[in-house]
Amino acid sequence: MSYPILRVHTGKIRENGERMIEECAKHGISLWGVSKGISAFPEIARTYKEAGFKVIADSRIANIKKMRASGVDSDYALIRIPMRSELEDVIENCNYSLVSDIGTIEAMSVVCARKKKEHKCVIMFDMGDLREGFWFTEIDSLAESIKKLSGFLKIAGVGANFSCASGVLPTNKNLSQLVNYGERLESALGYRLDIYSGGGTCSFVQMLRGNVPDRINSLRMGEALLLGKDTSFCIDIDMLNQDTMEIEAELVEVREKPTLPIGEIGRDAFGNVPVFEDRGNRLRGILGIGRQDVNINGLTPLDEGVKIITASSDHLLVDVEDCSKRPKVGDVLRFRPDYSAMLSSSTSPYVTKIFEG
Ligand SMILES: *Cc1c(COP(=O)(O)O)cnc(C)c1O
Repeated sequence: MSYPILRVHTGKIRENGERMIEECAKHGISLWGVSKGISAFPEIARTYKEAGFKVIADSRIANIKKMRASGVDSDYALIRIPMRSELEDVIENCNYSLVSDIGTIEAMSVVCARKKKEHKCVIMFDMGDLREGFWFTEIDSLAESIKKLSGFLKIAGVGANFSCASGVLPTNKNLSQLVNYGERLESALGYRLDIYSGGGTCSFVQMLRGNVPDRINSLRMGEALLLGKDTSFCIDIDMLNQDTMEIEAELVEVREKPTLPIGEIGRDAFGNVPVFEDRGNRLRGILGIGRQDVNINGLTPLDEGVKIITASSDHLLVDVEDCSKRPKVGDVLRFRPDYSAMLSSSTSPYVTKIFEG
């Protein structure tokens, strides 16, 4: 086993899931567990099932196939708008998908009819974040097109996404608007829709604050579940664990060096002109981890006195002068990843993944 390691405490994630499911049930909301932030490892899928999630959601069909192939029995939802080129796979492997294009919906309906397989889709509305979604002005024409589809493709409900492309937060106002669009679609279709899916982690935070309208009955949880945090509101969520995972890296050099580089300064390995403050000689370490392994900006040192200086593709430089015990070559330093660091390290083939209970 070699470093760097992404060490994941699945028990802490399971606890997060259990608490969120319980809390949401009080508000009449059920949850989809989103696995994409940590590359949908089967250990994570199993943890979600143990916590009680009925639906596992991922943005990538490859991830959903991976979880299915490893024997995790569940309903699965594809939460990135499906590509025309993957519809066979989507209908074959997913129970739900989020959709925002009528041509794609029609093509899905054809595949469903041919396979004689039912599939449920959630119609996405753009509530201002300007990522996926229909405009409300399209509701009537959308309903007309839906009425012509084969019976195998069901419209399960409506949904919206927030805090992604443009950082637009969910509020009582825009969520109520989503409910209004859903109800207009219902009356155009002439039947009731089951799912009103009000977003991800930031909507969970709004639910805790009492800002989610009654009819919203479903949320899709990624970050809060995996990290106990919400980046869009920039908060740790009190009722959840934040110590769910660490990144560990090994020191390959520890030496006292000046804090000011010696010589003329050009650009660094990534084309930036670095700026340094002269703080005299300080103890500095090199860790065997770099930008090929993880988004360094998303790491927070867990060891007292460690500060990140800079990183290249394969090296992370740290100031360890303030450590109470002088670190030595071969020692391991630990970091807490944010969402971007979790995503990048779980995807990197150079990082060893360890799942502990
Ligand atoms: C990633 C994603 C989520 C989960 O978002 P979190 O903020 O991580 O909870 C929900 N819905 C969609 C459509 C997503 O792509």
